[in-house]
Amino acid sequence: MVQSIQKAVVLGAGVMGSAIAAHLANAGREVLLLDIVPKDLTAEEAKQGLTLQDAIVRNRIAAVAKANLLKQKPSPLYSPDVLDRIAVGNLEDDLPRVAGADWVIEAIVERLDVKRAIWKRVEAHWRPGTIVSSNTSGVSINGIVEECSDDFRRHFMGTHFFNPPRYMKLLEIIPCRETDEQLIGFMQSFCEKQLGKGVVLAKDTPNFIANRIGTYGLLVTLQAMEKHGLTVDEVDALTGPVIGRPKSATFRTLDLVGLDVFVHVANNVFQTTADPEERAVFATPAPLQRMLEQGWLGDKSGQGFYRKE
Ligand code: NAD
Repeated sequence: MVQSIQKAVVLGAGVMGSAIAAHLANAGREVLLLDIVPKDLTAEEAKQGLTLQDAIVRNRIAAVAKANLLKQKPSPLYSPDVLDRIAVGNLEDDLPRVAGADWVIEAIVERLDVKRAIWKRVEAHWRPGTIVSSNTSGVSINGIVEECSDDFRRHFMGTHFFNPPRYMKLLEIIPCRETDEQLIGFMQSFCEKQLGKGVVLAKDTPNFIANRIGTYGLLVTLQAMEKHGLTVDEVDALTGPVIGRPKSATFRTLDLVGLDVFVHVANNVFQTTADPEERAVFATPAPLQRMLEQGWLGDKSGQGFYRKE
């Protein structure tokens, strides 16, 4: 049984993976942040005369994500030195390094098939005893590890951080059928005492608790906007501080979350419910679909409902 978590591996260096790595480093843990390297060079890299091999060796995504942590406001880091505790690596070559971790947490794209495949690969290098968890917003926890061994599943659970992880207190822990009871207790205590979270235990239902309610609220707001002909600014003004919510109201929240991620999360319910009323609410709204087709993903792509300066 795990006694402590000193070393963590975070799979996925996107919006959440990099911020979770930062928060674990804030709490004094050593973190290895891994991500895939795209198959093509960016225009900027090609201009610099880099080869694809250079880009891979430099582990582009994880290194960029780590550098970005210094620029973000509000900061995900308690202080800039915290960054020294985060090493970066390439998911293809460095996956065997999960064997040296006390906790492996995955924050890759919100797709059951992709998550299932990565966990099957992690299992091949897994050291029995290591805690394994997914930061999924609402994909089935049992489904993610369906093809893994019973022993692996005893160590697996959902650990769902909210965005931004340094500031959002809520953390949902979602056990799978086989998760060891003692391990759930250990993780609850670790996340509360060491990471400053308020833990809620949730059942493995689509989108768990907070996102089941949150995505519903956002989608109904989008429908009301269309029905009443409201603008983005008007909706944000009506759904922000004036009703006691922080300044990031409806569309600022969607830009922060990522429109692609939001659509995947809404789909988690759409694809798993037969209720016609729920299907009507959770279907992807046409304007959102058009924005995705143009590559408008929110803050991470520089353009969503707002343009990021
Ligand atoms: P993101 O799009 O910012 O990052 C996803 C990362 O996954 C990227 O860095 C990408 O390179 C990597 N990836 C894509 N395909 C992959 C593959 N085949 N194998 C390995 N890695 C791959 O997404 P995000 O917002 O960080 O979300 C990550 C996870 O966290 C999702 O499950 C999401 O639902 C969940 N989550 C997101 C938020 C949010 O507000 N964005 C909040 C809580 C939970």
